[in-house]
Amino acid sequence: MPYLDSFNRPISYLRVSVTDRCNLRCVYCMPPEGVPWRPHGEVLRYEEIETVVRAAAELGISKIRLTGGEPLVRRGLVDLVSTISCIPGLDDLAMTTNGTLLARYAKELKAAGLKRVNVSLDTLRPERFRRITRLGELSATLEGIAAAKEADLVPVKINTVVIRCLNDDEVVDFARLTRAPDWHVRFIEVMPLGDNADWAGNGYVPMAEVRERIERELGELRPARLGGGGGPARYYRLSGAHGTVGFITPISEHFCYQCNRLRLTADGKLRPCLLSDYEIDLRTPLRQGAAMEEIKHLIVEAVRAKPERHHLSEQVIPQGRVMSEIGG
Ligand code: SAM
Ligand code: SF4
Repeated sequence: MPYLDSFNRPISYLRVSVTDRCNLRCVYCMPPEGVPWRPHGEVLRYEEIETVVRAAAELGISKIRLTGGEPLVRRGLVDLVSTISCIPGLDDLAMTTNGTLLARYAKELKAAGLKRVNVSLDTLRPERFRRITRLGELSATLEGIAAAKEADLVPVKINTVVIRCLNDDEVVDFARLTRAPDWHVRFIEVMPLGDNADWAGNGYVPMAEVRERIERELGELRPARLGGGGGPARYYRLSGAHGTVGFITPISEHFCYQCNRLRLTADGKLRPCLLSDYEIDLRTPLRQGAAMEEIKHLIVEAVRAKPERHHLSEQVIPQGRVMSEIGG
């Protein structure tokens, strides 16, 4: 049974950032100069991640998502997937990725026990993709998405952060994709974190506006269900479409009351809330040889420390890390 936090929310989901490094520099996620990578010694080793996941599973966590930075830039990730997929008590193992390296790894990841992937994709236009990611090629991510579907890492969910004057004119194009088989698109409101206030302030687009634009062009969106979730997205379907359109509204309609997650940063801090800088250090006790019971005790402490909700509306903006250091 999942552990309950102080507000009676069952905590069943751990997001594990396996690296703070990334092969892209998305404008709303990282500053132009990038962020200084943490030295390898500061990043949790795979055995340490395994210990934390085992402890979490013993406390009723049943879902793990690997994220980053870009998880697929860390060497040996397939081995970590193999190890984690054998831990008793877990029933879901997923990954969030920018997709650039998926074409290379999708089959191996599936064979190692990964169930599915979410792929971030903010534009369908090659030049714009380069502008948003500063380094990437659209074709690589599209090939990655195709490879993930081919490898049965499904449902593949596309995560699209919508930003005014950057890609908001493409929401209808993305929604249209869901008429083809296997396309599930989730639109996300951009969140302020660290130094990205320009993107998150001036660029913020409420999901109600995105929905209205889609319905104006493509017709009514009817409520739908999509498996492999239990997360904050609300799903809809266009008439006759196979795929779904999801909306994630951390700002306009926060979903903190149903939050079921903890986050582990690449440098071994347990973060009870994405949007609060409070963290509990696991790396030091892990390296001092802490017993499993002690790690479990610290995880319970993080569960108890989960705040009731975020306070972005009162201008409390987390400053400690940028999104690539937490994993989204
Ligand atoms: N590199 C991987 C990727 O891009 O999918 C995993 C890490 S990335 C930080 C996880 C997710 O966070 C991505 O879908 C990304 O678009 C999203 N993200 C990054 N910064 C964000 C922000 N300020 N507001 C909302 N979502 C953000
Ligand atoms: Fe890298 Fe993902 Fe952040 Fe883009 S959103 S810079 S791919 S971590």
